[in-house]
Amino acid sequence: MLPEPSAESGHKPKPESEAEPTFVTDRMLGTLTRYLRFMGYDTVSANGLLPGNAKEDTLLLEMAAQEHRILLTRDHELARRGKDHVILISSDDVMVQVQQLIDRGLVRRQCRMSRCSLCNTVLRAATGAEIAGAEYAPEEKTGLTFFWCDECSKLYWNGSHGRMLSERIGGRRDLS
Ligand SMILES: [Zn+2]
Repeated sequence: MLPEPSAESGHKPKPESEAEPTFVTDRMLGTLTRYLRFMGYDTVSANGLLPGNAKEDTLLLEMAAQEHRILLTRDHELARRGKDHVILISSDDVMVQVQQLIDRGLVRRQCRMSRCSLCNTVLRAATGAEIAGAEYAPEEKTGLTFFWCDECSKLYWNGSHGRMLSERIGGRRDLS
């Protein structure tokens, strides 16, 4: 029997072919964006667009329609315009926001550490050199799994941070 792969290979099929939802978020939802990425969901943020575009709402609606993303917003007017492509997020509290998406059956309580929380890139297993070169890596590496964002050159690991986040998101360990 072949061993299970221990980390995301980065060669999985595109999200369109999976049953998982993908999201685009407005500028009010920066923290929720990072949480969704930690949870493994492909999430594009309006914060990645150039500021000052008067037609930004229209752009977000087009992205949602063209890329089959669900638009998450705190803006009532934008939610009205987007109809069924949009979910109006009802709270400023990120845990309530996550719970709202869970209640809608869109996301699962999980912390997969599979995407960069800053840029949404799919993480890959980090090399020994990348781990050794990151000054912020924990000294005690036993039992930790390390991941790397090629876009940000940033190291992630599933240690205390991932565990804390996983417990906050899930109230229990539900890592997949
Ligand atoms: Zn990144």
